[in-house]
Parts: sequence; C-alpha cells; structure tokens
Amino acid sequence: MIRIGIDLGGTKIELVALAPDGQERWRRREPTPQGDYAAIVERIRAMVDEAERALGERAQVGIGIPGSVSPSTGRIRNANSNCLNDRPLRQDLEACLDRPIRLANDANCLAVSEAADGAGAGAATLFAVILGTGVGGGLVVKGELLIGANAIAGEWGHSPLPLPDADDQPLPTCYCGRSGCIETYLSGPGLALDHSRRHRTSLDAATIAHQAAAGDPDCEASLRRYERRLARALAVVINLIDPEVIVLGGGLSKLQRLYTSVPEHWGEHIFSDQRVTRLLPARHGDASGVRGAAWLWPSD
Ligand SMILES: [Zn+2]
Repeated sequence: MIRIGIDLGGTKIELVALAPDGQERWRRREPTPQGDYAAIVERIRAMVDEAERALGERAQVGIGIPGSVSPSTGRIRNANSNCLNDRPLRQDLEACLDRPIRLANDANCLAVSEAADGAGAGAATLFAVILGTGVGGGLVVKGELLIGANAIAGEWGHSPLPLPDADDQPLPTCYCGRSGCIETYLSGPGLALDHSRRHRTSLDAATIAHQAAAGDPDCEASLRRYERRLARALAVVINLIDPEVIVLGGGLSKLQRLYTSVPEHWGEHIFSDQRVTRLLPARHGDASGVRGAAWLWPSD
C-alpha cells in the first residue's frame, strides 16, 4: 500500500507518497495557512486528495508536527505553531480523511526515517536531533520509536543547557516559560541571539556560518561557542542512553564542521574510556521528516 507522509511546519506543509520499497511517487509543498487551524486542516485534506487522485489509490497517512499529542487530552501541546495547541488535530484529520491516521512529533519522524533507511539504518539505538527554528529530539531503539510514559521521550530541547559558563549568561528565556533551554542556544534563532549578545551585530544563523567560513573572527567565535554547547548537550544524551548513532537534521545540520568539531569536544563530558558514538548528517536531508511521517505506518 502507498504511504503518505506529511510534514506540517510553521511555514510549509510538505507531502510525500512512498511506494512500499521507499521510492518516492509524489511530492507537493504548500505554504502553511498562518494562524488559522481550520484552514490548515482543509489544506492537508486537499493535498491528500490531490495525491490520491494522481496516484489512483488510497493511502495510509502519517503526519509529523512541531509538537506532540497529550496522552491525557488527545489534543496537541508544545507546538511552536500556536494555533495547533489544544486542538484535536488527529481526530479532525481522521474525520475529514475518513481513515485512521498516525501523528508524531517532527523530531520523532526524523528518527524513524533515519533508522528505517537513512544514516542510522541497522543501528540498535539512534538519537535524532533537529537543529532548526526549534530544537527537538527523537529516539529509536531496536527499530521502535520510544514514546515514553508522558509521550515526551527525546524532548531534549527544553532541558537546561548543561554546565553553563560565563559565556552562557544570562540564561535566555524560552517560549516554553523556562530559561536556559538547550533550544535557546542551539536553534538557528538561538545562534543569532548569542552572536548579537556577544558581538553587537544582528546576523541570522546562515550568515554567521557563511561569514565564519570566509574568515570573520566574531562569527568564528560564535560557531565555536555553538559547537561546545552542542557537545555538552549531546554528552548528556550519550551518558544516559549511549546511542550508536546520533543524526542531525534541520538547517544547522548542514554545517559540515559539526561532524568533526563536536565529537572532539564531547569526550571530556562522556563517562567512558572509548567514544565510538557516530555523529552523522541526516541521509535524507530536508526530506527526512516527511519520509519518517510516512514510515509511521509499519511495513506491509
Ligand atoms: Zn524551553
């Protein structure tokens, strides 16, 4: 059976249809209706309808969202797209698409995709991280996505940055209501904020990376702070679950230097004489989340 995966992001909705062997059969990208929940549901329904008419068959549908479903209410929580919060998105989509659907956090979808046929294929334990507008994580153990007692397994981005030093002060406030969350340092806006706090110039994350590569010393210093923070934050994950592979996705995962610099730094915080953990970019790149949403349905 065809699987449709949908990645519901803050700015775009992406849809991919995969054949049972993982081959891509259809792809569409549309802007996300801003701040309008009913319009988002209707846009998703129309995109699924268009794909199924083009493919001539009915599909299983999985969807990744920037938040999660509360086990106690069945409604969306923790979404940085605020209009989704407290909405029964799964129930509303099941009603308008007339079938059961599966819904998961977008970082969990990245983990599922990279464990299925990506950078972590064959690994017994994989931790996947999105370093983008926000920061999230997901955990796959022996091929199974770990959900957890509160359905927050892998939600690493809203833990405090470990071992904050003078460079990390004052702790930035986070939209979640806490201060010093990993996300406030390691998201793209977090990198930009840190750069403006230290160097008094306002640059976005992509420009900081570009100018560091061109030899700008301030941008280079900001990336080095970023790498040391990422290493400290990932060392805690390694000490806790000791994954074979850590996969990075999201815009900042395209910084190739992370894959050598971060493992150079994390050793001093890992409680082990050997450090064989592999840090790898997502094999499916920006398409990994949407593919993982499709793989929320098990193989035939
Ligand atoms: Zn937070």
